Formats: sequence, C-alpha cells, structure tokens
Amino acid sequence: MATLTLDPRVSGPTADFVSQRHQMYVDGRFVMAASGSSFPVYNPATGEVITEVPEAEEEDVNRAVLAARHAFDEGPWTRMSPSERGRTIWKLADLLEQHLEEFAEIESLDNGKPRAVARVADVPLAVDMFRYMAGWSTKISGKTLPLSAGRDFHAYTLREPIGVVAQIIPWNFPLLMAAWKLAPALACGCTIVLKLAEQTPLSGLRLAQLIDEAGFPPGVVNVLTGYGEGAGAPLAAHELVDKVAFTGSTEVGKLIVKAAAGNLKKVTLELGGKSPAIVFADAEIDHAIQGTASAIFFNHGQCCCAGSRLYVHEKIFDQVVEGVSHVAGDIRLAPGLDPSCQMGPLVSDEQYRKVVGYIESGVQEGAKIAAGGPVSGFDRGYFVRPTVLTNTNPSMKVVREEIFGPVVCAVPFSDAELEGILKRANDTAYGLAASVWTRNLSLAHKVSRGIRAGTVWVNCHNVFDASLPFGGYKQSGWGREMGEEVLNNYLETKAVTVAL
Ligand code: NAP
Ligand code: MG
Repeated sequence: MATLTLDPRVSGPTADFVSQRHQMYVDGRFVMAASGSSFPVYNPATGEVITEVPEAEEEDVNRAVLAARHAFDEGPWTRMSPSERGRTIWKLADLLEQHLEEFAEIESLDNGKPRAVARVADVPLAVDMFRYMAGWSTKISGKTLPLSAGRDFHAYTLREPIGVVAQIIPWNFPLLMAAWKLAPALACGCTIVLKLAEQTPLSGLRLAQLIDEAGFPPGVVNVLTGYGEGAGAPLAAHELVDKVAFTGSTEVGKLIVKAAAGNLKKVTLELGGKSPAIVFADAEIDHAIQGTASAIFFNHGQCCCAGSRLYVHEKIFDQVVEGVSHVAGDIRLAPGLDPSCQMGPLVSDEQYRKVVGYIESGVQEGAKIAAGGPVSGFDRGYFVRPTVLTNTNPSMKVVREEIFGPVVCAVPFSDAELEGILKRANDTAYGLAASVWTRNLSLAHKVSRGIRAGTVWVNCHNVFDASLPFGGYKQSGWGREMGEEVLNNYLETKAVTVAL
C-alpha cells in the first residue's frame, strides 16, 4: 500500500478506522476482494490518498448476491416477526447515533463537506430514516376487498418483500443515501447488496460494522466497494437479483434500465435535476435571498434537487442577484474539517473539472459572472467558488444541463400570466423539485400544482424528512424515496381469493 496521509485534525477513533485495512461485508463476514485488488480513496481538500478499499468485481458481486439470495430464501430474516425486524433496525439507528461525531468526521474527510454540516444534517437524517422505517416494519399490511364477482368469495391482498435488492448509490450524501436505500428495504424484509460510490466508500464501510453489531443475520445486508462498470454493472444485470434501486446520474440510470431487462427485475431510479427557484415580486426579499442562495450552495450544489435555475421577477431581479452574489462572496471556503469551513471542496478532481468546464462554457456562450467564477485561488484541493451567472438564455448548456456544483443561473421574468413562468420552469427534461417564493398564498398553491416535479417547496428549499416522499417526474426518475411511498419500491402485492 502507498504511503497514506491523514489530516492531523482527525480524531482518534476516525483515524483508527480510516487507517485500518478495509474490507467489504459479505454474508456476515469482512472480506477482501476475490482478486485481492484495491483502489485509492482521496481527501478532496488536498488531493492526497488517505486509504485504499477493496475493488469488487463480478466474482465478489456473485458471492454477495448468492449470500443475499440464501438469506432471503432460507434464512431466519424472512421468518422473523415484523417487531423483531423493526427492533434490529432501531438498534442500528441507536448505534449510528452513538457514533455521530465519528461519522460526521468520516463524511467530511471523504466527501469534502463541512464536518459541522454532516453533524447536523447527514448523520441525524440517516438516524431518523432508520428509526422512521423501523416503525413501518410492523405496519405493512394488505386490504380486504369486496368482489363484484359474487358474494361467495373472501378476497384480500398480502404485501410481501420483493426479494433480493441491488442498491447503487452516489457520493453526494454517502451515509444518508445508504440509509435512504437500506432502511425501507429492511423494513419490508428484503435482503440487500449495496454498492457504495467509488469516491466515498468510507462511511458505508463503517456502517457495515454497525450492521454486523446490530445483529442482522448473515447475508441480509452485503456491502461492496468498487467501480460502476466493474461492480455496479454486473450487480444491476444479475439474474438472481429481483430489484435494483439506483441513485445517480440520468445517463447511468438509463444503463441500469437496460441491464435490468435481462430478467426484468423491477427498477426504481432517483436521478438528476435542474430545479427552478421562482421568486415573485411580493416575496419577503431577505428571506428569499438567503433561501435561494442556500438552495444552490448547500452541499456545494452537489444535490440532485439544487435550485440551479433562479427565476426572479424583473422588479426585484437586481436586488436579489446582488443579495445572492453577496451571500456567495461571503461563504468561507476551507477543508471540511477546518472549524471555519462553510463550503468545502467538490468531491473529486473529475467533478471539479466538470463544474469549472460548465462555468467556462457559460461565459463562452455569453453569460456574465455576478459572483465566483472558474478560478478558486486554492493551490490544491477541488475547490470551486460559489458562482452566480446572469445574461444566460434557455438554450445554453449551463441552463439546460445538471452541473452538480455551486453554480446558479439567474434569469429575470416579467410574465403577467402565471402560465408564462410555469412554462419556463417546466422547460426541462428533469422534474425533481422546485421552490416558490411569495407571500401570496393562492399563487403559491397554483404554482405548486403547475410545476411538473416530485417536490415543491414554498418559501423554503432542501427541506427533507423521512416522512416526505421524494423523487422525480420526467427524466428525474421512477418511484419515490422515503415516506410511506418508498415501501412500494420493496414490496410485491399478492391477491388471494377464497371461494367460500
Ligand atoms: P454516476 O456515474 O451515475 O454514479 C452513481 C453510482 O452508479 C455510483 O455508485 C457509480 O459507480 C455507479 N455506476 C456508474 N456506472 C454504472 C454502471 N454502468 N452500472 C451500474 N452502476 C454504475 O454518477 P457520478 O459519476 O458519481 O456523477 C456524475 C453526475 O451524476 C454528476 O455530475 C451529477 O450530475 C449526477 N449525480 C446525481 C446524483 C443524484 O443524487 N441524483 C448523485 C450523484 C451524481 P462509481 O462510483 O464507480 O461511479
Ligand atoms: Mg461515475
């Protein structure tokens, strides 16, 4: 293994974990890759290698899927009572909460986000998700149905776990995305093979240790580290997998659908977005400025629902752009573990180049920079300054494509009719989220109905709760995460009809 460098601010338990020889979790055991290969994990604040993790390939995927298949078909898990299942998930939530500080640190080190943010957002939201779903374990039920076919029937439905589930997640909220996927599948009684994102495997591997400690039977949860092509693709295509749940880019989402076609496994997808934030002339302006700035700059814009198109009524356009630009200019960029950090580096060199490339392409196509720009002023690390672009037009790449970085396009509107602004807001292949900023209650509700997206926030943005369904219209995905709705992703419905 190459020489590893660890930030001296990392505390003892985290340092111990990060510097250990990392293993994947398969069939209740911690294992290396079958080939013995591993790949490096980088600190995005410095570009240095901090550790290495196993590189799963087809054989590892096979082993994990067979373990999950066996645990589903033969194991004690599917015979456990709903209450016992719920208690095990709750125990995992407790363990995670006990290690909150360590997870916040790992997340910051691996992903680049401020430790302070991981501490109040990523980790507590993941804990909540496990608790919320632990509660659902005992509340999954079918219906009794009156048949028109005649009175001499007794008919009812059973809701049964879908089986072996493949889950593939991205790097923007590594622990939280794992929780969004694992918790409902476990509540439904499925067994799982989870592939972590190559850029951010550490919190998922630490979570695997807690899953083991919580007492899930072997094979119920299997956790792999590996690349999309080497591990994700064979997992999505595997004949013994019943369902694949994916979060990531729309491009890879389409590959998942193709890979799943072999055995027609069920698919749900949580994909990209280009979400509008619409500020009307009557909005409470300071609140709208802070809120729309946070809509795009939270998590460095690496949110699928980031408010990346900012539509502002022309009467207040200059004021709002100036305000958001001020917020952008005041954000303190630093390594995530630095206590003064308000925005860390982007996750990877690849993402850094992609986002800077978008800013440059916007400028080449005629956009003006109101804040930020392509130059970060850092001599190392993947830092991008929060950037506000004006003077864009609807055909520019920066307006049409998901940038997944701290870059917002501000656009004035003057439409007298509501239809005009709705048309612009809906002029996108995506449909994940939107926010509307106004004091007019009726207008807020009308816009909420008119937006073609899975989430609409009124006078807020990026508000998440385990109870709220989240997911996309159009090319932002299939199905919903969280809330009662997500259970549909992991259940089959069986109709039983009895002639009396
Ligand atoms: P991605 O390629 O879609 O990755 C998401 C997950 O899918 C990762 O675990 C990835 O593995 C895996 N994967 C990649 N190719 C696969 C394949 N052929 N079969 C099965 N799994 C595969 O996303 P990314 O490369 O990390 O980011 C690219 C862009 O996606 C971003 O710039 C952003 O626009 C978008 N994105 C969206 C979300 C979201 O929440 N909607 C999250 C992250 C990124 P690897 O880790 O090896 O890539
Ligand atoms: Mg990728």
